[in-house]
Amino acid sequence: MKAMVLDRPGVPLRLADLPMPEPGEGQILVRVSACGVCRTDLHVVDGELTEPALPIVPGHEIIGHVVETGPNVERFQKDERVGIPWLGYTCGVCRFCRTQRENLCDAPRFTGYQIDGGYAQYTIADARYCFPVPGDYSDAEAAPLMCAGLIGYRSLEMAGEAERLGIYGFGAAAHIVAQVARHRGQQVFAFTRPGDEEAQAFARDMGAVWVGGSDQRPPEALDAAILFAPVGALVPAALEAVAKGGVVVAGGIHMSDIPSFPYDILWGERVVRSVANLTRRDAEAFLALAPKVPVKTEVQPFPLDQANEALTRLREGRLRGAAVLLPG
Ligand SMILES: [Zn+2]
Ligand SMILES: [Zn+2]
Repeated sequence: MKAMVLDRPGVPLRLADLPMPEPGEGQILVRVSACGVCRTDLHVVDGELTEPALPIVPGHEIIGHVVETGPNVERFQKDERVGIPWLGYTCGVCRFCRTQRENLCDAPRFTGYQIDGGYAQYTIADARYCFPVPGDYSDAEAAPLMCAGLIGYRSLEMAGEAERLGIYGFGAAAHIVAQVARHRGQQVFAFTRPGDEEAQAFARDMGAVWVGGSDQRPPEALDAAILFAPVGALVPAALEAVAKGGVVVAGGIHMSDIPSFPYDILWGERVVRSVANLTRRDAEAFLALAPKVPVKTEVQPFPLDQANEALTRLREGRLRGAAVLLPG
């Protein structure tokens, strides 16, 4: 099978012919029809996330069809459409797993990081961490739901019932979160790279009531803000934009250092928190909600062998919505 392989951080992915993987106990073999390109992939490829199992096939927003089930898989049948997310395995016994916080597991394994992912024609997954995909989405449209959607949704939950919600960085996750927030009656204030008119127009199309550069202050104080841009300097900026009691949620897995800031902007019971990974419960809740909103995803398709180009476009902010690889 064809796959794009990361041999070591900092070099482009290599198109390779790999042997067809075989599903073991509890696993399914999936023919990949679409795999989203997530910012986390970029952090793996660029070496900002330091624990990849090299060589690795990246990609954790996978939509495909079951080709074969290993022993003791009852959840899925052959030909069924499945989604495979970032959370690929948890230990089940650590104190986090035992208290419904498997996203914080002490010994997790992640798809496209420690487990070969979806930048390939086929992949293997532990059936317990896969999900049926809601009906009306095409494979390409469904792919960004699996991470931009799931982790975006978890970030939105952590932001609480904010009437005025700021979103910093308007890419794949933001465009999904904005639709859900609007559905809930929240007002979205979108912040992009200063002067990025395309991203600002995109945010407006997604229902933002105000758009501006991340160097601007919103016209009214926000109740919460979610940061999807991996830029530490946005933490104090967002703290200054939220009202007393406001929450600033960092939704990405990696961020540049946060500059020091005066206690004054945290005072007033403002909160800064991160969101780490996802639980299977988040996935079930979001995948049930998405078609009801209904969340519509905007995708830019790329053939599998153009994965490097898709990553470059993401790094440079030259995408509207989500890049999706089509290995078919
Ligand atoms: Zn655990
Ligand atoms: Zn992701």
